[in-house]
Amino acid sequence: MPSPIAHAITGYALSQLPLTKSTLTVRKAATLPWRLSWISIYGAFISVLPDFDFIPQWITGLRFHRGPSHSLVAALLVSLLISSVVYGIARRASYGKLFVFTFICYIAHLAMDAVTAGGDGMQLLWPLSEQYFRAPFSIFPPVHHSRGFWDASHAVFISVELGYSLMVLYMLSLRKAKGQRSENL
Ligand SMILES: [Zn+2]
Repeated sequence: MPSPIAHAITGYALSQLPLTKSTLTVRKAATLPWRLSWISIYGAFISVLPDFDFIPQWITGLRFHRGPSHSLVAALLVSLLISSVVYGIARRASYGKLFVFTFICYIAHLAMDAVTAGGDGMQLLWPLSEQYFRAPFSIFPPVHHSRGFWDASHAVFISVELGYSLMVLYMLSLRKAKGQRSENL
């Protein structure tokens, strides 16, 4: 899997797309950098959420990582549940749009994991099948958790993910600058 860095940046980027912003961004914290509205923090959180399966794995010692939490069924059910709760509490967006945004952020996590080197893949079709699936090609290098926190090999994935994150943020800033220019015309 990519680390939480790349997943969170992806969720943040999805929250900044024009369609998302026009439908879901209601209140912006204008004094914070990168427009950290509630929906951008929410998008980053949802895009990291499937990897919270490390908690039951850590508690029980059983294999959970990239299991049921990385399935299409989980993407659907978790998105329904969380968007219902958030909508019930905040009522800051239409429920349908909030659900679609949540589902896309969750699926983006699965897509990034699918193109990460190493490992068996994900139980994408759980509970219909226990089989693990992954893409036939890789974009992100693997993260070797078993080697500990300070292993030198981590420099590879950190470099790739920082490069990916900076590229995404740069593209967003270009889009923002372009939008401001057209507003001023
Ligand atoms: Zn994952």
